[in-house]
Amino acid sequence: MRRYPRSRRLFDQACRRLPGGVSSPVRAFRSVGSPDSLEPGSGHPLFITRGKGSRIWDADGNRYLDYVLSWGPLILGHAHPDVVRAVAAAARKGTSYGAPTEVELELAAFVQRAMPSMERLRFVNSGTEATMSALRLARAYTKRDLILKFDGCYHGHADGLLVKAGSGATTLGVPDSPGVPAATAHLTLQAPYNNLAHVDALFAQHGPKIAAVIVEPVAANMGVVLPAEGFLSGLRALTQRHGALLIFDEVITGFRVGFGGAQELYGVRPDLTCLGKIIGGGLPVGAYGGRKEIMELIAPAGPVYQAGTLSGNPLAMHAGLATLRRLRSAGFYTALERRAARLYNGLIEAAREAGVPIQPARVGSVLGLFFTDRPVTDYASAKSADTRKFAAYFWAMLEAGVYVAPSQFEALFVSGAHTVADIDRTITAAAGAFRRAARVD
Ligand SMILES: *Cc1c(COP(=O)(O)O)cnc(C)c1O
Repeated sequence: MRRYPRSRRLFDQACRRLPGGVSSPVRAFRSVGSPDSLEPGSGHPLFITRGKGSRIWDADGNRYLDYVLSWGPLILGHAHPDVVRAVAAAARKGTSYGAPTEVELELAAFVQRAMPSMERLRFVNSGTEATMSALRLARAYTKRDLILKFDGCYHGHADGLLVKAGSGATTLGVPDSPGVPAATAHLTLQAPYNNLAHVDALFAQHGPKIAAVIVEPVAANMGVVLPAEGFLSGLRALTQRHGALLIFDEVITGFRVGFGGAQELYGVRPDLTCLGKIIGGGLPVGAYGGRKEIMELIAPAGPVYQAGTLSGNPLAMHAGLATLRRLRSAGFYTALERRAARLYNGLIEAAREAGVPIQPARVGSVLGLFFTDRPVTDYASAKSADTRKFAAYFWAMLEAGVYVAPSQFEALFVSGAHTVADIDRTITAAAGAFRRAARVD
């Protein structure tokens, strides 16, 4: 069995300087334990030194096929030549000016071509900033205070959104965070994902006070849960009827499920959209945007304050623009779709042969699998998945040279750099990993 001595040593040192040894919780591999004990918290993460295309290397010199892809942004794979060239050229001209630049305008135009609902948009530095700012704006526009979110949807770590927020929270078993004032949490209403009747009931009770419904149009932070037929269009109708805004958090789905995001795929036009991950091409970028008359409330056009020293940073804008240009090239999504489908079908077949029940889900190049025989439609059913079977699968994949997220409540991403040979190697690795999982009870 593989050991990772240098990563282990670095992690021990990191734990003396950084809380939990990491800069973001799910990176710590807490929920999967260690290769010889699947007990949560018994292991350590891998330190990564380098990435190229579909591959990453760890501090012990092991090489992996990467399906985490920095949790979604790297749709072109690591160190894509277009992105590297764009960032290097930009860096030579200075890394930040705190003044308007032409590249912001170009990236904005690209985003608007993909998502015409974003009549105006504002760049920020992360997905968290985007959702947080979109909520402030929605409250200002509607002059209402309540927000409705869905259990298991993650919208970043702003106070009002850290309520049954999936992934990191699900993984670590802290569905709500200390430090979030009760008064703030009380302004967030919750409903089960895919449950329109529940939303309807909440509107019946609180309608005139609800500023916005925020939703991941494909839930990808409690594992991958697809929207049921009519769910998104139902939210559109209900919000419209009650004068609330509909906010699509497309931080994952934007440019991932297709160039036009989930709003194009499902044909539902939100009032506001939040973006992140892919639009930064691997650098820190977020954006929020939507209907002109709403967005024009933002300072300096209007009174709603929101600002950022590094917002629209030229390196990040150039990385995003280089990425989106590549995505628009002919056949990009068709080829990606074909490879993702090959992986998806291969995983299903391998699990079946190993006799381990899974619930798979896929939209474009976003895949998820739950170790359970029950259909997964919301957070409650997602949580019923077997985490020990997943941990066994995870370590077996790693040992076979395949790096997937250390939690089944995270998505698996395929990039344009993954070849058919990469996919087939992954399916072979998964066949072994599923057999390992089948032996765990
Ligand atoms: C990642 C994510 C966020 C938060 O983005 P950060 O850049 O990590 O702050 C928000 N919403 C969704 C759907 C995400 O997946």
